Amino acid sequence: MSPFLNTLDNLTQAGKIALIDKRVILKLQNPDRFIEANIFVEMDDGDLRIFKAYRVQYNNSRGPYKGGIRFHPSVDLEEIKALAFLMVIKCAVVDIPFGGAKGGVSVNSKELSNKELEKLSRAWIQAFYDVIGPEKDVPAPDMYTNAQIMDWMEDEYSQIVNKKTPAIITGKSIENNGSLGRDKATGLGAWQVFNKIIKKLDYINQESKIVIQGFGSAGGVFIDYAIEKNYKIIAVSDSKGGVYNKNGLDINKLKKHKQARGSVQDFNDAQNISNEELLELETDILVLAALENQITKENANEIKAKLILEIANGPISKEADEILAQKNILVCPDILSNAGGVVVSYFEWLQNIKAEKWTAEEVFEKLEKIMNKAFDDVWNISKEYNINLRMSAFILALKRLEKAIKL
Ligand code: NAD
Repeated sequence: MSPFLNTLDNLTQAGKIALIDKRVILKLQNPDRFIEANIFVEMDDGDLRIFKAYRVQYNNSRGPYKGGIRFHPSVDLEEIKALAFLMVIKCAVVDIPFGGAKGGVSVNSKELSNKELEKLSRAWIQAFYDVIGPEKDVPAPDMYTNAQIMDWMEDEYSQIVNKKTPAIITGKSIENNGSLGRDKATGLGAWQVFNKIIKKLDYINQESKIVIQGFGSAGGVFIDYAIEKNYKIIAVSDSKGGVYNKNGLDINKLKKHKQARGSVQDFNDAQNISNEELLELETDILVLAALENQITKENANEIKAKLILEIANGPISKEADEILAQKNILVCPDILSNAGGVVVSYFEWLQNIKAEKWTAEEVFEKLEKIMNKAFDDVWNISKEYNINLRMSAFILALKRLEKAIKL
């Protein structure tokens, strides 16, 4: 199944359980519009290259379209449609006044020079500037796009409309009207959700063991909060593989090791393991903070964790979700646990619109309120309908969307 059809499957299922109006489901099965453009970039060697670029504006019933721009070779319309749809759901789950969108370019950005990357970023804005805007559609970073790229894009847009327009895009540098706390937002939001969920579970406590796949920006922040609270992290991995010590890893030493060697592997006080082995370890908590499709029907039966927290987007396939549910493994879904990023993006947009600058403490406090409320809402629906948290998050979002669409 394509990623888009896969996500629509959840929509249909949640719609049936919660008796959502069929007209609303039909509307949400189809994006409002999608734009595909060829963008042309003159490379450093003088060659002209053409890249396929996309913007999918899925739904704006609850507010302006919102969603990141991804630079990756696998980008195509189906992938961007699926991600745009998930943004509609995610913004509704955390109840921020945005709809959902996503954009991208099919490109291996690692092969581009800095100058070429800047030209590509500016060309994306030239292709789409007339369909985006602070009250229309607000992009942000995603895979392989960062604050520098957002700064170039904001600058290009501001030049075209001849007006400094920081609120056109979020995830900018702090010096260029970005928000304090954005770098920690996803990991911290996941940590806040984690703290809410463990209060509901008597089998998780301070002695519980944690395994984390992905030691990047989101996973790394989560790890920092976990070690501050003395959790025992027994295994961690990155793209090159993982390390395991059943008595717990010294994360501060491991960070230095990764900095020096470029990978967590071959760490003194631990044994090397593969990413596949890491997922199947005996542990209480498994945090997925790397890639999509890590737990599938092939390995779901081997998972031993009692609680799985999804920080990555879509790390568990639909079939695997069902197997994990049968095994009574509780999954905290991406559309709730990684929503901290888009919440602080919303704060950045608000600060830009109001010409304000908030402290990191203000940002974290406001984030916690939103994440706590979203968690409670999702949890209560899961009890009301006796369903898993992913379905419950979908139902919460659909009910909010149904009201907005009907009104
Ligand atoms: P990142 O690139 O900083 O980190 C990714 C980590 O995963 C790295 O440690 C990398 O080495 C590791 N990794 C890559 N391939 C792997 C593999 N095959 N096995 C194990 N580890 C592997 O990315 P990030 O920003 O931390 O994002 C991680 C995930 O969280 C992505 O799915 C992303 O879409 C999702 N997410 C991130 C944010 C955010 O604000 N950063 C927001 C929402 C969702």
